[in-house]
Amino acid sequence: MRRRLAALVAVVFAVVPIGPAVGSAAAMPDRTAPDRTTPDRTTATVMSTQRNADGTVTQTTYTPAAGVAPADLARKLTANGVPGVALVDGTADVSAQVAACAYGTSRTWPTGTTCFSRWSYNGWARPQMYFRDRSNSLWPVGRAVTKWNETSGIDSHYRTFASGCPSTTVHCVIVYNAAYGKTGEWEDVVGLTRRSLNSAQTYTTGAYIALNESYGGTEAQRWNTACHEIGHVLGLDHNTSTASCLYTYRTSQRYPHADDFTLLERYY
Ligand SMILES: [Zn+2]
Repeated sequence: MRRRLAALVAVVFAVVPIGPAVGSAAAMPDRTAPDRTTPDRTTATVMSTQRNADGTVTQTTYTPAAGVAPADLARKLTANGVPGVALVDGTADVSAQVAACAYGTSRTWPTGTTCFSRWSYNGWARPQMYFRDRSNSLWPVGRAVTKWNETSGIDSHYRTFASGCPSTTVHCVIVYNAAYGKTGEWEDVVGLTRRSLNSAQTYTTGAYIALNESYGGTEAQRWNTACHEIGHVLGLDHNTSTASCLYTYRTSQRYPHADDFTLLERYY
């Protein structure tokens, strides 16, 4: 049984930098892929969903630090005051609806009406995504964007933040970066994607990414997180394979899986 939380609560958009955290990130080993016969929710998505006063929906996906289980992160976020937190588990659920929203190891988030919240075409052959990079040079955002552009479903372009948004018919997504700390919304969180959806959750109308400096990370881990958040912006849920950067939490996998590209091509 799948459902969306529609909590009528105030939306907290502020992502407040609280200064550099003390200490460095623990070097935790990446986990291996889960046993898919066990509904241990290892690959679930940690998501907060809020219904806004005007009917639109704001969804935030939180990416756990390496080795942090989604269920543990969901508990912490709730304890830290984040409203509407739920585990969305597209892996253990084998309903027909979920099967229709998947390709191979890749998944989207089914809603009551659709498998997929898409970006509008606005007259283009494919939706045009511009990722405006406001992160520091440690985050390989440009290389992550370039890789996602290999799908033929939707075009992803890299752009410096200072260059602005080139047109009103394209979609611009700002990639923020700061030492957001290790407490509150950022406890065990290395990155998040916040998306605005129309009331039917059929279209994504806006999004931004925030990358957390406070957990450090190798180049491959940072690349993994940038790749992961971009995949969420485009509309994908997690991939059950560690061969995809859309695996549940931070790994060192830098690239999407071929199934991720195919799933985008099914819906665009
Ligand atoms: Zn995720």
